[in-house]
Amino acid sequence: MMKIETAPRLDNEQIERNFREIAPALTEAEARFEANRCLYCYDAPCTRACPTHIDVPAFIKKIASGNLIGSARVIFDANPIGATCARVCPVDVLCEGACVEGTLMEKPIEIGRLQRYATDYVMREGRQVLRAGEPNGKSVGVIGSGPAGLSCATYLARLGYAVTVYDRKPLAGGLDTYGMAEYKMPQLVSTDEAAQVERLGVEFKLNTEIGKDISLEELEKTHDAIFVGAGLGATARLNIPGEDLEGVYDALEFIERIKTRDWRNIPIGRTVAVVGAGNTAIDAVTQAKRLGAERVLMIYRRSEREMPAYEYEYELAKQDAIEFCWQTAPVEILASNGNSRVSAIRCVRMELTEPDSTGRRSAKPVPGSEFDIPVDMVIKALGQTKRKEFLKSIAGLELDQSGRVIIDKESMQTGNPKYFAGGDCVNGGREAVDASQMGKLAAAGIHQYLTGERVEFAGARIPLHEETQDVKAH
Ligand SMILES: Cc1cc2nc3c(=O)[nH]c(=O)nc-3n(C[C@H](O)[C@H](O)[C@H](O)COP(=O)(O)OP(=O)(O)OC[C@H]3O[C@@H](n4cnc5c(N)ncnc54)[C@H](O)[C@@H]3O)c2cc1C
Ligand code: SF4
Repeated sequence: MMKIETAPRLDNEQIERNFREIAPALTEAEARFEANRCLYCYDAPCTRACPTHIDVPAFIKKIASGNLIGSARVIFDANPIGATCARVCPVDVLCEGACVEGTLMEKPIEIGRLQRYATDYVMREGRQVLRAGEPNGKSVGVIGSGPAGLSCATYLARLGYAVTVYDRKPLAGGLDTYGMAEYKMPQLVSTDEAAQVERLGVEFKLNTEIGKDISLEELEKTHDAIFVGAGLGATARLNIPGEDLEGVYDALEFIERIKTRDWRNIPIGRTVAVVGAGNTAIDAVTQAKRLGAERVLMIYRRSEREMPAYEYEYELAKQDAIEFCWQTAPVEILASNGNSRVSAIRCVRMELTEPDSTGRRSAKPVPGSEFDIPVDMVIKALGQTKRKEFLKSIAGLELDQSGRVIIDKESMQTGNPKYFAGGDCVNGGREAVDASQMGKLAAAGIHQYLTGERVEFAGARIPLHEETQDVKAH
């Protein structure tokens, strides 16, 4: 049960301003100008760099000619969560990072914002650009309504399958709905995208946990095939004393509360320490500051150089005056005498070893260097755990050592032929766009399993390029 902290509150208007989308929408004139900068490259590097392989030159050309519905169709055809991805994709290392204009003119085409321009148009106008196929009499169950599940459900509905998506949460969308920072993407974009999938005839059973409310046996009896897009679990524990004191929060739980926009009831301290330095940690520090915390510190055992967060996320945190405690690790969370509330975090200085064969430097504590930082809130942001228990309960599903589902990379089929899987539970946690692509490949795999027919969706031809992509974990 969360208790409300004691920081002086910013008024609602100020907080709304702090959480307003940072990247403004393009105006019509800006969109046309930007679209006309595109060189429409043959075998475009942006299309190759996009994990869902959207035909970027094709959708940009349609914007240039004023055909926004056609443009959105190209986008959603290859990526059913194209409106979300337009806002949350790390474009610098994906499509825009590969743009030829970036080399020639030092400014890549703003692919993400153009994608947003076209997809926002059809969503605002309520236009449905994808169509369901003729019913084929077969049924598929999808566990999880995150990007992987939504994408898989979309392609299956387009092939005429009766699809039911089960999610234990009250709203569909997975982390797109509950995890993305509001200033990157309002929750409404993700729930609208799920509604678009529902309009294809996909049934959503929300507040329904598979393995608890509905058994796996029942699910198997109901459906001809099952897709597992169950994502990852709770934030990893710090495993230090004091971790369960009042005022210590899990980053995901904290961010999820912010997504409700119920500003008065979101916990926030005066001085907040966030432990971790990945993209989730960066999202947590930035959001804590924007809620009105006076001081926000990010505590990381290694140095700035090893920090796993993206450069642009780090820049945002710097602009928000976050204090970075490099080479520092927490050893205990303290409460003041006779109190169960956090009052300080005890840390130790870390020294880094020489780089190993992979170039990575390890961190080890400097004996006797402990010191206390007075704080009244601690947010744990060490990354998400794997959902081993649930996944192991599916007979025949094999997991690798770290708890990721092992699949056939072509078909996304698991060790149990009736089950297919994709998204974070398979790749260990990457980006929404990767999960979307895996859902697409799984839909083709399921179709082949059930009918023997091969189908190729837009953007499915280039295999997952996990090895080449410079994408960091959240
Ligand atoms: C804080 C944070 C910020 C992020 N920011 C970005 C970003 O800016 N850009 C980006 O591209 N990516 C970002 N990501 C990563 C991105 O959110 C994930 O890669 C993506 O959501 C994975 O999709 P998924 O469908 O595999 O899983 P999820 O989105 O996690 O969805 C899984 C769904 O399965 C449901 N579920 C699980 N088990 C069951 C069950 N037994 N029964 C019923 N339902 C179940 C869950 O409730 C959930 O809705 C972020 C992640 C985090 C944690
Ligand atoms: S989905 Fe993401 S990576 Fe792909 S073109 Fe759109 S913004 Fe770029």
